[in-house]
Amino acid sequence: MVGGGLAGAKAVEALRDKGFEGRLVLFAGEDHLPYERPPLSKDYLKTGEGLDNAFVHDRDWYAAHDVDVRTGTVVAALDRDAHEVVTEGGERLHWDRLLLATGSSPRRLTLPGADLDGVLSLRTIEDSDRLREALRPGQRLVLIGGGWIGLEVAAAAREAGADVTVLETLDLPLVRVLGPTVAQVFADLHREHGVDLRTGVSVEEITGEDGRVAGVRLGDGTTVPADTVVVGIGAAPNVGLAQGAGLEVDNGVLADAVGRTSDPDVFVAGDVANVEHPFLGRRVRVEHWANALDQPALVAAAMLDQQGPEPQLPFFFSDQYDLGLEYHGLGSPDDEVVVRGDLAGREFLAFWLRDGVVTAGMNVNVWDVGDAVKGLIRSRTRVDRAKLADADVPLENLT
Ligand code: NAP
Repeated sequence: MVGGGLAGAKAVEALRDKGFEGRLVLFAGEDHLPYERPPLSKDYLKTGEGLDNAFVHDRDWYAAHDVDVRTGTVVAALDRDAHEVVTEGGERLHWDRLLLATGSSPRRLTLPGADLDGVLSLRTIEDSDRLREALRPGQRLVLIGGGWIGLEVAAAAREAGADVTVLETLDLPLVRVLGPTVAQVFADLHREHGVDLRTGVSVEEITGEDGRVAGVRLGDGTTVPADTVVVGIGAAPNVGLAQGAGLEVDNGVLADAVGRTSDPDVFVAGDVANVEHPFLGRRVRVEHWANALDQPALVAAAMLDQQGPEPQLPFFFSDQYDLGLEYHGLGSPDDEVVVRGDLAGREFLAFWLRDGVVTAGMNVNVWDVGDAVKGLIRSRTRVDRAKLADADVPLENLT
C-alpha cells in the first residue's frame, strides 16, 4: 500500500479479513500511523483532545496482523516493469499487487503573499494544532473559500471567540454542492453566529508585515485585516506517482468499479481514485471520509481476485455549531430541491431530484433516516413531490 491515510489502513485490514496471509507493507509519508481526518476541522480542532480515537488502529494491531507499517517513508517512484516501489531513500521493494491510496492535497493560492507566515491550510494533525493557536478571542481569522473546510473552521473559531471573515467567490457558500435553496441555510447559520460572510468577492493579494500576514486585499480594493488566514479552496488528487509510472490519469487515477487501474496489478482507493460507479453509471472521484472508509473493502477483494461488496453511495457528514447533517447520494446544484420539515428552523430533510427521481438526500438535525434516504435513491422511483415534502408520509412508502 502506498499511502498511510484511512484508505490504506482499511485496505490492509480488509486484506487480512479476507484471508490474505502474504506480506503486507504500508508506506505512510506522514510520521503518524494512519488516522481519520474529520476531527481535525471539528472536535480535535476545538479542544486538542480525542486524537487517540482518530487513529484507525494502534501499533499493536499492525504488529498482531503482521503489517509492516513504514511511517515517515515517502515513495518517490513506481517501477512498473520491475514491479518495484522506490522510496525517497532509494530502497526498492517488490510488489505482486500494489494499492495506491495517496489521497489529495490542499490546493494552494498562487497570489502574492500566499507564502507569508500565518497563511495556513488544513489537512494534517500538525495543521490542526497550528490553527488551534489562532482560535482565541481577539484573533482575526480570515477563511478563503466557503467550502467544508471554511465553514467547519468558521464554526470552531466562532465558538472559541475569534473574529471570523469568510470570503467566497460565488453568491453563497456551498452553492456548487447544495444549490441556492439549501446553501442559503448555511449562509444564514454563519451570519447568525457572527461570521462576516462576504460572498461574490475575489481575493487579489495577501498582505503582510515583517513576513507575517496582515490582511487580505479584495478585488474591490478593500483589505480585510487578518492575524491568520486559512486557505480552503479545495483539494487536488495526488497523482504524481501514477503519472510518473504512466498510468491513466484524469482527475485522479482512472480505474474500473473495483479500483483496478490501467495496469492490472495496480489498484487505487480513496481520494485519488476516479472509479466507475455501477449505480451512478459513470466515473466518480469522492474525496469524503466515508469513501476512504468503505471503498478499500471492495478493492481489497479485487486485489485477491475475490468478489467484493457493492460500492456504497457517496456519503458525507458535517457539524457546524448546533447543526449536524448527513448527505447521501450525488445531487447536482441545478437539480430540483424538495424540502420536508423546517428549513428556517434548520430541522429538515432536503432531496435533490432529476426528472422526478431522487439523486441525493440530506438530513439536517433529523436522525436515523439514512437507510430510508438511500433506499429512495436506489429505487430510482419517480416520487410524488407533495408526499416527499410531507413529514407524515414515511419515506419507505414513496418507493
Ligand atoms: P471544497 O469543499 O471543495 O470547497 C472549496 C471552496 O473554495 C469552494 O467554495 C470554492 O468555490 C472555493 N474556491 C475555490 N477556488 C477559490 C479561490 N481561488 N478563491 C476563493 N475561493 C475559492 O474544499 P475544502 O473546503 O478546501 O475542503 C478540502 C477537502 O476536504 C474537500 O474534499 C472536502 O470535501 C473535504 N472536507 C470534507 C468535510 C466534510 O465532509 N464534512 C470537511 C472538511 C473537508 P467555488 O465553488 O466557486 O469553486
